[in-house]
Amino acid sequence: MLNIILFGPPGAGKGTQSNLLIDKFNLVHLSTGDIFRYNIKNETELGKTANSYIENGNLVPDEVTIGMVKDFLERHPDANGFIFDGFPRTIAQGEALDKMLAEKDHSIDLMLALEVEDEELIKRLLERGKTSNRADDQSEETIQNRLNVYKKETAPLAEYYSEQDKYMGVHGVGTIEEIFERLCAAIKMKTSS
Ligand code: AMP
Repeated sequence: MLNIILFGPPGAGKGTQSNLLIDKFNLVHLSTGDIFRYNIKNETELGKTANSYIENGNLVPDEVTIGMVKDFLERHPDANGFIFDGFPRTIAQGEALDKMLAEKDHSIDLMLALEVEDEELIKRLLERGKTSNRADDQSEETIQNRLNVYKKETAPLAEYYSEQDKYMGVHGVGTIEEIFERLCAAIKMKTSS
């Protein structure tokens, strides 16, 4: 099994690179943001709960998010591995993920972090907002809040996985192909060591 957390701030390119990685390594893509958006679109109870947080660029509460991930993992018992995209986003989520995997005798192999400067992130997100229909990409204020939340609540996970010797930073600016090659090289380095 190969379990990778694709880490990085909003706009770092996690979704794009996840799609390439799942094809190459035959993995299942778990994007909590995508699952929330699907539920919002279909007006489920989960969607209704999540919507007010997402609209303002805040995190959906841990218990809701962790429950949703647990459910997803249980529905994919035969997966070859997962790309975790946008999860975990808090230390509590990281601890819960480690525990959920350990219960199945699995673990995270690697946290790959896409590193991109704030200025570039804001530019990318505003650009994406023109075509994505994502409410949280439309206003600079919401984008700024998402970056603040990332720094305060999510960035500490880098340290958490560094302590487990699983963290690898990758330069996240360049063409999609260049960045993908850097990610593949990092995976190769980690899995052959
Ligand atoms: P994303 O598509 O990953 O940028 O996520 C969009 C939004 O969904 C985030 O700004 C949060 O409001 C919410 N969200 C996604 N993943 C999580 C998570 N792991 N924990 C809490 N909220 C999340």
